[in-house]
Amino acid sequence: MNYRHAYHAGNFADCMKHALLVWLLRALARKPAAFGVLDTHAGAGGYDLQADEATRTGEWQQGIGRLLASPPDEALADYLGLVRAAGAPAYYPGSPRLVRALLRPQDRLVCCEMHGEDHAGLRRLFARDPMVAVHARDGWTAIEALLPPRTARRGLTLIDPPFEQPGEFDRIVAAIGAARRRFAAGVVAAWYPIKHRAPVRDMQDRLRAGGEPDLICAELLLRPPLDPSRLNGCGLLVASPPWGFEAAAAAILDAIADRLGRDESAAHGSVTRLTPELPEAPMRTR
Ligand code: SAM
Repeated sequence: MNYRHAYHAGNFADCMKHALLVWLLRALARKPAAFGVLDTHAGAGGYDLQADEATRTGEWQQGIGRLLASPPDEALADYLGLVRAAGAPAYYPGSPRLVRALLRPQDRLVCCEMHGEDHAGLRRLFARDPMVAVHARDGWTAIEALLPPRTARRGLTLIDPPFEQPGEFDRIVAAIGAARRRFAAGVVAAWYPIKHRAPVRDMQDRLRAGGEPDLICAELLLRPPLDPSRLNGCGLLVASPPWGFEAAAAAILDAIADRLGRDESAAHGSVTRLTPELPEAPMRTR
C-alpha cells in the first residue's frame, strides 16, 4: 500500500467529493431518525496542509486553496463553512471529520483504514469519541461484515479507494451490489477517477447491464479526458440518492468548475442519471 492521502488532501477531487458528501449528509439529517455512516477507505481523518507531503505536491492550493479565496457561492457555503471551522487553510478535514461534524447525538460513524500510520492518526482523532468506531480492516470486506449499521435503519456508505490497484472499477461495481443487498435502505456514494473515458464507460455499462436501479453519476472534468496519465476529472457514483440530489449536485459542480477550471472552456460538471428509480410499489387495497 503506497498511497498516502496526505499528498492529495484538499485537491479538486477532495473538494467535489466532500462538497457532495456534505449535501448528502444534510439530506439524511432532514429526518429525525438516526442514520449510520460507513466510511470504507477513511484515510487519516484530517491533514496538515503545511506538512511536507502537502507542500510537496501543492495540490491543495489548486483545490481548496482556490475555493477559499474565491467569491462566495451559495452552493458551496455549507461545505466551505465546515472546512473553515475545521481549521482550513492550515488544515484540511478528511471525510471522517466532515461526517463527524454532521452527526447528531443519535447518529454513528464507522471508519475502516488499512494503512498503519493513517489508521493510528484516525484512532487518535476519535480516541474518546463514543460516536465513532475506527477499524484497521479491509474496507471492501467491511461492506459485508459491517452493514447494515447496528444502530440505524438509514444511512450512507462512502467508498473511496485509492485506485492504485488494477480492478478497482470492478470492485466498485461489486461493492454497490453488496452494499445494497446488505442494506437496501442505505445511500451509497463511490468515488472514481476520470483519467480517460474507457474504464468509466465500462463500469457504467456493467452497472446498467446488472440492473442496479436508481444510480446517478456526478462528474467534474477539469479538462477533456484525453491524456490517461493525468487525473483529468473524477466522479461520484451515488446509489439511491435523497430527493433533490441531482439539482443540488449540478449547482455544486458548476460552482467548483467555475472556480477551479484553468482552461475556461474545458472545466465543467455534469450530473447523469445512469439507471431509473424503482417504480413505487402500488398501494395495497383490500
Ligand atoms: N475517504 C478519505 C477522505 O475523503 O478524506 C480519503 C481516502 S484515500 C482516497 C484512500 C484510503 O484508503 C487511503 O488512506 C488508503 O490507505 C486506504 N486503503 C487502501 N486500501 C484499503 C482497504 N482495502 N481497506 C481500507 N482502507 C484502504
